[in-house]
Amino acid sequence: MHQPPIPQIEATDPEIAGLINGEARRQSEKMRLIPSENYVSLAVLEACGTVLTNKYSEGYPGRRYYEGQQFIDPIETIAIERAQALFGVDHANVQPYSGSPANLAVYLAFAQPGDTIMGMALPMGGHLTHGAAVSVAGRWFRPVQYGVRRDTGRIDFDEVRDLALRERPKVIFAGGTAVPRTIDFPAFAEIAAEAGAVLVADIAHIAGLIAGGAHPSPVGYAPVITTTTHKTLRGPRGAMIMTDAEHASPIDKAVFPGLQGGPHNHTTAAIAVALHEAAAPSFRAYAAQVVANAAALAAALQERGYDLVSGGTDNHLLLVDLTSKGIGGKPAAKALDRAGIELNFNTVPFDTRRPFDPSGIRLGTPAITTRGLTEQHMPLLAAWMDEAITAAAKDDEGPLERIAAEIRDLLTAFPAPGWSAQP
Ligand SMILES: *Cc1c(COP(=O)(O)O)cnc(C)c1O
Repeated sequence: MHQPPIPQIEATDPEIAGLINGEARRQSEKMRLIPSENYVSLAVLEACGTVLTNKYSEGYPGRRYYEGQQFIDPIETIAIERAQALFGVDHANVQPYSGSPANLAVYLAFAQPGDTIMGMALPMGGHLTHGAAVSVAGRWFRPVQYGVRRDTGRIDFDEVRDLALRERPKVIFAGGTAVPRTIDFPAFAEIAAEAGAVLVADIAHIAGLIAGGAHPSPVGYAPVITTTTHKTLRGPRGAMIMTDAEHASPIDKAVFPGLQGGPHNHTTAAIAVALHEAAAPSFRAYAAQVVANAAALAAALQERGYDLVSGGTDNHLLLVDLTSKGIGGKPAAKALDRAGIELNFNTVPFDTRRPFDPSGIRLGTPAITTRGLTEQHMPLLAAWMDEAITAAAKDDEGPLERIAAEIRDLLTAFPAPGWSAQP
């Protein structure tokens, strides 16, 4: 059952309790490889489920529009101070509801509707909020988009520089959601300075790796840094915007009152708890293990003939082009899910298929590393993936159930926070 237990929901709303317990069991039985997901600790889960959700706190610590902030103010102040210390930044705003509103707050702070903004194209690995046509970023601003080089699968800095100098964007986003390689923040900083743009590092995927010393930090290069708190950072669903002293005030005004009302105080407390965990020595070991596991999984898949975009990975994430395996990303992802391996279908750069039926799959190691899997398990995982994908390419569902059972069996030795087989 779910941990912590949920007896009150079971008593009053068995329908929802059943679904919550079902999800907790599913998370414990699956090999969860979606690179933006993780398992939070029981301490983070507890913070999310507290009475802090009852309280309104519009404003910032010491400057609120509602009374009764005797306990909320120190909680938010501690969260801010922990973010400052962990990442080494002048200023942190811990109120954005999630990564997308955090990025919208950045546009609100530094651009006017119709202004030019720049980011990585969605099909190249960028995030929706970096200027995709369907996003508010693409509808209210004038996006120019860069991509990766066809020959290397890595960011094309000649293109970034040419575009930035020609189009003069107000804001340049560096970062992405399907980028398997180290982001070169100094290179972006040089281009942004030449173009007179505000450089924003969106470290949503890699925040935990940066905090744990397993990816270079953008601090000192990007004056504005946005991040979710729920991916490799292993906190609750939420976000932060970190800045230098000069950019602090426009960001704070954009988040509140520009974009949001009251902050989610239970989330703020959970962010504080997660930042405390991320400052512990064990988190450095976690971040290093995430990267080591991804490298081992990449090597094991390449040994089996899989094409990795950019030829490998430097971080927690792998993007696999399945074209040579004769199967699309979507049928492969569906077959893998039945085999107990959870990941997502994804476009690959220069994809010739449609976005809802693309050529690739995206996977990563943050969640399985939290459970304690190491390099030694990666060849076995690659073998399971290969067997399921090869079978699916021949429309053979035979091995899927067996693989799922073998995975359940292996994972019983690596308990998932949030689930216990014992009531
Ligand atoms: C996940 C992500 C976001 C958005 O976060 P949400 O919490 O889903 O809104 C923004 N930018 C990048 C690079 C991301 O990976």
